[in-house]
Amino acid sequence: MLKLRGHHLLCLNFFKGEGYNRNFVDNLRKVLEKAKRKEFYIAIGSDDICIACSHLKDNKCNFNNMQNEEKIKGLDTLALNLLNFKAGERIMWSYIDSKLPDVFTDWRDEACSECQWLETCSSTELWRKLGQSPPVKTGGLFREE
Ligand code: SF4
Repeated sequence: MLKLRGHHLLCLNFFKGEGYNRNFVDNLRKVLEKAKRKEFYIAIGSDDICIACSHLKDNKCNFNNMQNEEKIKGLDTLALNLLNFKAGERIMWSYIDSKLPDVFTDWRDEACSECQWLETCSSTELWRKLGQSPPVKTGGLFREE
């Protein structure tokens, strides 16, 4: 069964075909297509998206050659708390669709402000629909150092 970690349940909503490299993007597209068709479970740590990421080292996030795992886990926890999901649960993507409008503002303000993908995510139609204003708090992950 497909497995996805917490922050991917929110970030993937704004995927528009960009990513770290071709292999990563191709895999992400396939995983997302499957996740939208079939039940999947919520993983702790690296998932079926991470597996194709060039930043994954020893099963941990090593983005920008930094020990990023704790930051990413914090983002997972934030996403799961907002969505009221728990690691290990099996869910359908339609649950996320139904909860996204309620959690979007908090997610955007807590997680996105310094993220390197903010420009990409905020240019999507869905992002515009969910809220026009820019992030107001600091503390984004996936930050370029
Ligand atoms: S801006 Fe970054 S943290 Fe926010 S949804 Fe996009 S990828 Fe996720």
